[in-house]
This record gives sequence, C-alpha cells and structure tokens, in this order.
Amino acid sequence: MMLSESQKSKTLVRLFSVTPMSKYKSVAMDIKDVQKLRMFSEVFGLPSYFFDGLEDYANRNAIANKKLCTSCFKAFLLKTGQECVIPNRTMSFFSSYFACESGHNGYFLDQNAVYII
Ligand SMILES: [Zn+2]
Repeated sequence: MMLSESQKSKTLVRLFSVTPMSKYKSVAMDIKDVQKLRMFSEVFGLPSYFFDGLEDYANRNAIANKKLCTSCFKAFLLKTGQECVIPNRTMSFFSSYFACESGHNGYFLDQNAVYII
C-alpha cells in the first residue's frame, strides 16, 4: 500500500502525538519494541534491510528476558541509519523517539565487542 503525501503527514502527526518521547528513557527495552519500529517504514519510506539490521542487533544482544540496553541500541540505530543513508530528518525523529543517551560515553556494545560511536 502506498500512502499519499497528505496521508503520510497525517500518520506522522498521529505517531508523534501518540508516542511519548520519554518512553525509552528507561535503561532496558523489550525486543518487541524493536520489532514495532517497522511501523515507521511506510511513513518514512525506509528500506526493510534497515529494520532487518536493527532486529538482528536486538536478537544477538537480548539477554534471557528478551531485554536489551536502550542506549546501546540507540547508538547502533543511529550508526546504521548513517550507513543506510537514511535522511537526517528521519534520524532526528529516531533520536528523539529514544530519549536516552546514545551509547555510553562515546561507545556502545554489540555482543562482546565495544564500538566507537
Ligand atoms: Zn548499553
């Protein structure tokens, strides 16, 4: 299904108004929250491989109770967005959506490795 420009902006307004920006201030997020990000695919016209990469990250970093570190995930998301050449406006949205810090003092974890942001 393709959305017209006016449908897209209506959807964006709806998403912004129903999405509490402080939702992801918490330290840990659920793996299901990563899967839910696909709802933004149509609105922003984002490629599915962008979300595939995020879900792969969540799956390999989730601990036993299906939780992962929100700050590390945010850092990975922003880095992946740059690599996938996602527009700055869209990345600003994701940056606000996750209200926490990006990574930890310039670093984030992916499995057992530490990466520079
Ligand atoms: Zn972390």
